Amino acid sequence: MTSAESKAPQNTPPLDSPSVEPVVAKCHCGRVQITLPSKPTKLNECQCTVCYKYGALWGYFTRGALTVTTAPDARLISYQRCDEYCQGDLSFNSCSHCGCMTHWWGEKEWTGPEHKMGVNCRMLTQEEIAGIPRSLSKGP
Ligand SMILES: [Zn+2]
Repeated sequence: MTSAESKAPQNTPPLDSPSVEPVVAKCHCGRVQITLPSKPTKLNECQCTVCYKYGALWGYFTRGALTVTTAPDARLISYQRCDEYCQGDLSFNSCSHCGCMTHWWGEKEWTGPEHKMGVNCRMLTQEEIAGIPRSLSKGP
């Protein structure tokens, strides 16, 4: 039995599909940069008790899909959330130089490449996030 050769599928997305080009989210001073595999397809202005105060606009990715880099003269300041919903399993990270909240991700057993994390897409430009649908929810 022989298998038929199939023509390679077209990888060109339709014109109305979101960008599949990598994009770099940067804090205000540029010392923390997150390279995303693509723009997010949706954004969430999370209304949980902490995100509401940060005013963050999250795009969600798996941790292994992106790269976080920090310049030598900066570091990530990490707030480990501890309250009735979370006991230090999640950290909110910001640039030590300019203070921008850049991302949250898991701590403890939630650090694998398959785990979900949030990138504050306010680190992208207004032009880069224009037209991406937004939601308001209490959690990712
Ligand atoms: Zn910064």
